[in-house]
Amino acid sequence: MSRKALGGKLLVAMMAVLGLSIGMAGNAVANGEVNIYSYRQPFLIKPMLNAFTHQTGIKTNVVFAPKGMITRLKKEGKNSPADVVLTVDIGRINDAVEAGVLQRVKTKKLAANVPSWDRDPSGLWYALTRRARIVYASRERVKPGDLSTYEALTDPKWKGRICIRSSQNAYNVALLASLVAHHGEAKAEEWAKGLKANLARKPQGNDRAQVKAIFSGECDISLGNSYYMGKMLTNEKQIAWAESVFLFFPNQDGRGAHMNISGAGVTKYAPRKDNAVKLLEFLSDDLAQKMYAEQNFEYPVKPGVPWSGLVESWGKFKADELDMVKVAKNRATAVRIFDRVGIP
Ligand code: FE
Repeated sequence: MSRKALGGKLLVAMMAVLGLSIGMAGNAVANGEVNIYSYRQPFLIKPMLNAFTHQTGIKTNVVFAPKGMITRLKKEGKNSPADVVLTVDIGRINDAVEAGVLQRVKTKKLAANVPSWDRDPSGLWYALTRRARIVYASRERVKPGDLSTYEALTDPKWKGRICIRSSQNAYNVALLASLVAHHGEAKAEEWAKGLKANLARKPQGNDRAQVKAIFSGECDISLGNSYYMGKMLTNEKQIAWAESVFLFFPNQDGRGAHMNISGAGVTKYAPRKDNAVKLLEFLSDDLAQKMYAEQNFEYPVKPGVPWSGLVESWGKFKADELDMVKVAKNRATAVRIFDRVGIP
C-alpha cells in the first residue's frame, strides 16, 4: 500500500472516530433532529428511536460510548451538541446529576408516565425501564422455601454457596445502597460481612458468569439482574445455564425486591430542548415502553404497560418502591462498606 493510500486510510479511520461528533456539531442548528449520548447499546435503543422518528419526523443521532460520556459532556460545556443522555444504572444517572450536565424538565406526560420514586423530584432525570436485582438459585440444590430475603443471605447455611460479581459493579453498589437506606450504615455493613463469609469464591465475572458457576456446581445461588434470564434463554450457548436455575424475588413479605433503572435526562445546554423533551415523553409512553420491555426483558416504568411474555412467566412480584434518589445518595456509603469489609 502506498504511503498516500495508507495516510488516506488513517484519516478515514480518524474521521470515523471523531465523525459522529463532527457530524453532530455541523447539524447543531438544524431543526427536526435530536442528538443522543448513550450508554445504552445501539441495538437496544434503535427500534424505539426508529419508532420515534416515524411518529414525529424528528431524526435521531446517537453517539454510543460505554465510558467517559459525562466527562465529555462536561468538557464540551455550552458547545455540546448533545440534547439527551441515555444511561443505565442509578449510579451513572447520579454521576450526571453531580457533574451538573443535566437540566430540569417537567411535563404532565412525564409525571404521569414515570412513578415518583423513579424520577428526580426536580426533573433532572426520568427512569425509562426497571430491572429487579434478585436471586438466581440452583434447581438441583436449592428449594424456593430455602430463600426469603436479602438479609437472610447471611445465614450460615449458605456458607461457601454464594457467587457474586465484583462489589465495584454498579448493580451491587445500588443493592447495598438500598440496604443502607432501609437499615442504616452499621446494619448494612453487618450484612456485607455476612455475605462475604458465605461467598464460594472471589467475586469475578458478570451476572451471567455467576449463573454459569451455579450450572457447573461452583455455587448454589447468586445475585443477578432479572433481564439476564431472558438474555441467557435466548442465547444458544447459555440456555443450559439458565435452565439450571430458578429466579427468586426476595423480600416479598416485606418491602419487595430491589429495583434498579435505566434512565434519561436532557442535557444542560441542549440545542434542541423541545425535541429532547419530545423524545423523553415518547420513550416513557406506551409504545416505546412496550418495545423496551420486549427487547431487553426489562420492566416498563409506566404503570399498566404489559410485560413481555417471558418476563410475565417469571411471575408477578412486589417491587421495592424505595425512592431511587435515596439509593443514589447512599451509593458512596455502600462503596465504603464494601471496601472496609474487603469484598473485592
Ligand atoms: Fe446489565
